Amino acid sequence: MKFVYDFTEGNKDLKDLLGGKGANLAEMTNLGLPVPPGFTITTEACKTYLDSGEEPTELRDEVSAHLDALEQKMGKKLGQADDPLLVSVRSGAKFSMPGMMDTVLNIGLSDKSVTGLAKQSGDDRFAWDSYRRLIQMFGKTVLGVDGDLFEEALEKAKEAKKVTVDTDLEAADLKKLVTKFKKIVKTEAGRDFPQDPREQMDLAIRSVFESWNTDRAKLYRRQERIPGDLGTAVNICSMVFGNLGPDSGTGVAFTRDPASGHQGVYGDYLQNAQGEDVVAGIRNTVPLADLEQIDKKSYDQLMQIMETLETHYKDLCDIEFTIERGQLWMLQTRVGKRTAGAAFRIATQLVDQGLIDEAEALQRVNGAQLAQLMFPRFDESAKVEQLGRGIAASPGAAVGKAVFDSYTAIKWSRSGEKVILIRRETNPDDLDGMIAAEGILTSRGGKTSHAAVVARGMGKTCVCGAEDLEVDTKRRRMTVGSTVVEEGDVVSIDGSTGKVYLGEVPVVPSPVVEYFEGRMHAGADDADELVAAVHRIMAYADRVRRLRVRANADNAEDALRARRFGAQGIGLCRTEHMFLGERREMVERLILADADDEREDALKQLLPLQKRDFVELFEAMDGLPVTVRLLDPPLHEFLPDITELSVRVALAESRKDANENDLRLLQAVHRLHEQNPMLGLRGVRLGLVIPGLFTMQVRAIAEAAAERKNAKGDPRAEIMIPLVGTVQELEIVREEAEQVIAEVIESTGVDLKLALGTMIELPRAALTADQIAEAAEFFSFGTNDLTQTVWGFSRDDVEASFFTAYLEKGIFGVSPFETIDKDGVGKLVKDAVKAGRATRPDLKLGVCGEHGGDPESVHFFHEVGLDYVSCSPFRIPVARLEAGRAAS
Ligand code: PEP
Ligand code: MG
Repeated sequence: MKFVYDFTEGNKDLKDLLGGKGANLAEMTNLGLPVPPGFTITTEACKTYLDSGEEPTELRDEVSAHLDALEQKMGKKLGQADDPLLVSVRSGAKFSMPGMMDTVLNIGLSDKSVTGLAKQSGDDRFAWDSYRRLIQMFGKTVLGVDGDLFEEALEKAKEAKKVTVDTDLEAADLKKLVTKFKKIVKTEAGRDFPQDPREQMDLAIRSVFESWNTDRAKLYRRQERIPGDLGTAVNICSMVFGNLGPDSGTGVAFTRDPASGHQGVYGDYLQNAQGEDVVAGIRNTVPLADLEQIDKKSYDQLMQIMETLETHYKDLCDIEFTIERGQLWMLQTRVGKRTAGAAFRIATQLVDQGLIDEAEALQRVNGAQLAQLMFPRFDESAKVEQLGRGIAASPGAAVGKAVFDSYTAIKWSRSGEKVILIRRETNPDDLDGMIAAEGILTSRGGKTSHAAVVARGMGKTCVCGAEDLEVDTKRRRMTVGSTVVEEGDVVSIDGSTGKVYLGEVPVVPSPVVEYFEGRMHAGADDADELVAAVHRIMAYADRVRRLRVRANADNAEDALRARRFGAQGIGLCRTEHMFLGERREMVERLILADADDEREDALKQLLPLQKRDFVELFEAMDGLPVTVRLLDPPLHEFLPDITELSVRVALAESRKDANENDLRLLQAVHRLHEQNPMLGLRGVRLGLVIPGLFTMQVRAIAEAAAERKNAKGDPRAEIMIPLVGTVQELEIVREEAEQVIAEVIESTGVDLKLALGTMIELPRAALTADQIAEAAEFFSFGTNDLTQTVWGFSRDDVEASFFTAYLEKGIFGVSPFETIDKDGVGKLVKDAVKAGRATRPDLKLGVCGEHGGDPESVHFFHEVGLDYVSCSPFRIPVARLEAGRAAS
C-alpha cells in the first residue's frame, strides 16, 4: 500500500485517502494554480497508527523519498543551516473539523538554521519570530505543554517593552523569548526542544495522527455525525510567509457570500501575518476588497483564481491564501460552508448559470437547512435597546442570559436556563459551551473566525466581531458605551443581521413558513429572493420524489395547515387526542361502568362527538386519504393520578365526608394501575376487552364518511388498529368492524369502502408480517413503539436518564428515537415490508412514527420501498425535500 502522495499525484475525489485539504491541494496543483510544493500522508497511515500504536513500517522510507524530492524541487534541505527549507505539518480529515486537530508551522527551524533564515530573508526579526512561533506551537501541540505559559511569557515581554502588539517586539526581544520558551519546554515536557529537523517533522506527524482522538475532536465528530474511524491525513507543505513585512499577508476568501449567496468579494485579509492569525480571530482583519489598494497585482490574480475555482468545483469555495513579498500562494480551498438561506439561493443561482442541473441542486440543500429557515425571527418593529452590531455569522434569533465562560454556559443550561455565550473570541476549548448555548456572541474575529465557522456548522445562531462590546471575562460582564451587561442579564442576538439587543426581543414567523402558509407578502427583497429559491427547490423535489408525504394530525385546523404545507393525506389521526378536556369525563364514565347499560350509555354519548370530529377532518382532507387510528393509550391516562386521588380520598375520609364517586374512582384507578403501562392494557387489547369501544369508533368513522358522501364530498377514510402482535387480534377486531360498516351501509344507503389496516409497532408484528398481511390492507410502521420495544428503552424516560451517557460514550451518535436505527429497528421494517408484500402484493406501506419527518430516516424509508411517510405538519416540507433528494 502507498502511504504518501505528492500534491501532483492526487485529486479532489481522493478525500477518503488524502483528506479534504490534501485532495484539494492536489486538485489546485493540477489546475496549475500557485500551490507551494508538498506531499500528503494518507488516512490509511493514520488508521494503522491509531490501531497499532505504531506508524506503518514503510512510512519512514516513503516520507524520506518524498522529502528528498521536495528538497530537490526547492533547491534546499529541510532545516539546512545556511538556507533552511521549512515545512508546515497540517491535519486534514475527509470532513472539515475546523480547529479541532493539530497543525505545526515552521518545522525545520533550529538554533542553527534560524540564523540562516535571518540571512536569507534579510530580516532578523522575522526569523526569530518564526522560531518562537515554532517552539510555542510545537511545545503546545506536540509536547503537550500548557499554551498559557507561552502566552504569559509573551505578554510579559510586551509589558517589559511597554508595547501592546506582537509586531512591536524586536529581534533581540524575540531572541530572548526563544530562550525563555525553550526553558518552558525543558521544564514542562522534561526534554529539550528537538534541534533535528527530521525529528521535529516525525514527532509533528505523530501528534497530528493522535489529535484525531482528542476529546474535543471526538465531541465535534459526534455533533457533526462524522464517523470516528476515518482518521486524518497529514499534509507536509513547504512554508511560505505572510509575515515578511507590509508586502506580505494572509487571508481567507469566499467565492460568494456564505451568508446570502450573493456574488462579490467576500473575505478578510491581514497584512504582515501568518496563517493561523486570521482563523483564530486574534487581530482584527480588513475586508478583502481593501487588498486591491494594498497589492493590486495579487488581488487581480486572486479574483481570477476564485473564478477558476468556482467554475471548476461548480460551487461556492472558500480559500486560504498567503502573499509572500508580492507573490500569491494558495494554501487551501474547499467547497465552503454556508448558511441555510445561502444554500438554497446558491443552488438555484448555479442552475441559472448553467453550472449544475436540477437534480444536483437538490443535493446542494438538505432538510435540516430547510428546518432552520422555518425558525421564527426577531420582530424588527419591537421597541428594544440595540446594544451593538457585529457580523451576521450564523442565522437565527437567540435569546438568553449572558454568560461569559463555557463552564457557566454548561452549568446553567443543564439547570434549564437559556444562555448566550459571550466571549472575546472562542477557541476549540469552548466547544461544550457553544453546544450548550442558544447562541454565541464574540467581540473579535470575522466570518471565518472559529466562533463563526463552528456555529455555522452546528446550525447555531452566532454574531461575531461586535467590536463595540468590551468583554471582560474575569469580571463576568461586558460594557457597551455606558451600558453594563452583567452575567445573567438577558440579551438577544440576531444571526441574520448581526444585531445585538439588551433584553428579550419578541419573535415573528419566518418568511419561509409564511410562504408555505400561503401568506407570503412581498416586501423585504431579501426574503422574496429566499422564498423564490425555496419554491423552486421544493418544486424539483416534488417532481422527482416517489415517497408520498402525509401528516400526523387529529383536528381540522392541523389538517388544513398540513394540506397547505403539501401533505397528501393524514397518515395518523390519534383519536385519543379527541378525548381530552370535558370529554375526559365521558371516558371516565365508560371506564367506571359496572353494567352493560351504563357502558352503552357512555358510548352513546361519545358517538356523535366522535362523528363530528371525523366529519370535520374528512372535510378538511377531502379527496385525500385519512388514516384514523382506534384508541391506543392505556386507560389510566384518562383517570386522575393515583397519588393525588389517594390523598384526596384519605383527607375526605378523615373528615368523614368521602364521596361515593371518588371512592369508586379510586378503586378503578387501583384496578387499572399497571407497573408497565406501555406494555399493558392499550392498543388493540383495549378493543378486545372493552366491549363496544372500537365498534363505536368504527361506527363514528363510517357514519361520518357517509355524511360527507351525502354532502357530495370525497372522504377516504382508512381504519387502523394499533399495537397488534398477532394476526388473531386483528382478525377479531376486523370482523367486528366489517359488521358495523355493513350496518352503516345498510342504514344510510351509502356505499362505503373503508380500508382496514394495522400498525406494525411490536417486534412480533414485524416478525409475523406475512401472516398479519392476510388481515391488513395496509401497514403503518409505528417506529416510536417499535424502537421502544426493540431496544427495550422506555420512550418516555430514556432521554432524561442514561441517554447522555450513551451519547458521550459514543454508543450511538444520535438518539434512535430521532433517527431510525437501521441495523436493528430498520432491519425489522425492511423484512416486514418484504414479507407483507409477499402475502399481499398491493399492501400499502407507510410510517407514522417521529422518524417519518427525520431527514436520514426518510432516505431509509425510500430505500426500503415504503409508499409514504407521515409526520407532524411542520416537518412536511422537510420530508418532501428529503424524499426528493432520496429519489434524485
Ligand atoms: C408509534 O408508535 O410510532 C406511533 C406513531 O404511535 P404513538 O406514537 O402514538 O404510540
Ligand atoms: Mg405507537
